[in-house]
Amino acid sequence: MTRMLIMGPPGSGKGTQATRIADKLGIVAISTGDIFRHNVKNLTPLGQEAKRYIDNGDFVPDEVTNRMVADRIAQPDAERGFLLDGYPRTAGQVEALDAMLTESGHRLSAVVELEVPDAELVERLLKRAEIEGRADDTREVIEHRLKLYHQETEAVVASYVDRGIVARVDGTGQIDDVTERLLQAVYSVRTATGTLPVLPGSED
Ligand code: ADP
Repeated sequence: MTRMLIMGPPGSGKGTQATRIADKLGIVAISTGDIFRHNVKNLTPLGQEAKRYIDNGDFVPDEVTNRMVADRIAQPDAERGFLLDGYPRTAGQVEALDAMLTESGHRLSAVVELEVPDAELVERLLKRAEIEGRADDTREVIEHRLKLYHQETEAVVASYVDRGIVARVDGTGQIDDVTERLLQAVYSVRTATGTLPVLPGSED
């Protein structure tokens, strides 16, 4: 069973690729950004709490985010594996996810990081702003989100690099090509760490 993370700066294509890879692997893609936006739209208490952080491009506090993810991965559709998109982004979230996995007797099989140069990210996000009109896709907020990625989330990636489960993937070029590279990367990490199932359903 695959329990994996897709990481990468804002605009790197995590959401698009997460859905494609999860479909291929037969697991559920869970995007913390999408869950927050859904809650904001539906004016839930969680959405009302998260909105001001999201609009400013800040992280929603760890205790709120961690609780939300713990609830989500405990749902039946995540039993067969999941791909987390946009989580963890802070050291506190790494710790919380480790605790969730330990409690359920599982471990992460792979982490993939999409790499795209900052200049291209800003360009992509400004273009998306014209099409989708996301409140947090203004130049100022985009730059703040990018800064936070470099300041906090890159250290999160590094902590997984130390565990030997990260593959870095070029996130530029055709969407299909990036998907292929990512699938190949997941396969390589799982081969290297011995977490590839020998028989279907034979692993943790
Ligand atoms: P992006 O990666 O493009 O910045 P996302 O759609 O993944 O955007 O997330 C949008 C916003 O939702 C973030 O800027 C942040 O406010 C909030 N968010 C998403 N995931 C997390 C997380 N793991 N921790 C804290 N806040 C989060």
